[in-house]
This record gives sequence, structure tokens and C-alpha cells, in this order.
Amino acid sequence: MAAQPTLFSRIIAGEISADIVYRDEYCLAFRDIQPQAPVHLLIVPIEPIPSVANVEPAHEQLLGHLLVVAARLGEEFGVAGSGYRLIINHGDDAGQTVPHLHLHMIGGRPLGALVGDAQSLGAP
Ligand code: 5GP
Repeated sequence: MAAQPTLFSRIIAGEISADIVYRDEYCLAFRDIQPQAPVHLLIVPIEPIPSVANVEPAHEQLLGHLLVVAARLGEEFGVAGSGYRLIINHGDDAGQTVPHLHLHMIGGRPLGALVGDAQSLGAP
């Protein structure tokens, strides 16, 4: 049985609208519907890899491409100088809600601690 298309596959296919800011043959970038900062983009490979935990050596070139696109978008959206954060969530503890690998690109304001509400666990 074929896997259900993900929400992001449906955006890529044009079945669900999104504010698309970049597209090429390997990936798409669009604005997050619930932005956490003035710039909050999702950079999504067209191949529906469920999570970073599912990446394989064959994906190396694609994954590098996503970072090249991120660097380009950082310039285009004016946050390369001020800074931004790239986030990949995997699984429940990280709060992944869409099972289609994606990079969050978040910037345009100071982002604070790397992990919002966590207590420091100290050195191992
Ligand atoms: P995750 O939590 O899986 O790392 O990130 C999924 C992101 O997708 C969330 O930040 C959420 O706001 C965003 N999102 C969920 N549904 C939609 C949608 O229909 N359109 C857009 N543009 N973003 C969405």
C-alpha cells in the first residue's frame, strides 16, 4: 500500500497553498504558518524522507543542497548578517509534527537559549 502523502508533499504538489519563497528540482521553501520569528521558513526536500532518522548515504548530496539553499535564503531574507538558527526536529521529544524532513530557518530577532524551557543538565 502506498504511503499517505504528507502535508508537505501536498504543498509541494500544489494541493495545499503556502507562501512559497523558493523552489528547485530538489526542494521547496515556504513560510511557516505559525512563525516563531520575523523570518521562519521551512526548507523541505521534495523526496518525502520522514525524518532525519531515515536519511541514508544516498541522501548526502540532497542534504548538502538544503544547506546551500538555506545560506542563499539567509541572504535573501536579510538575516545572514544578524544571524539565524536552522532546526531539524526528529520525533516526539523534539516536537516533530510533520513526518517529512524539513529545516526550520528562524531569524530576524534574538533567539535566546538553544533549548527553550529546559533546565541545564550539567556536564555528563
Ligand atoms: P515540526 O514541528 O514538524 O518540526 O514543524 C512543522 C511546522 O510546520 C510547524 O512549525 C508548523 O507551524 C508548520 N505547519 C503546519 N501546518 C502547516 C501548513 O499547513 N502550512 C505551513 N506553511 N506550515 C505549516
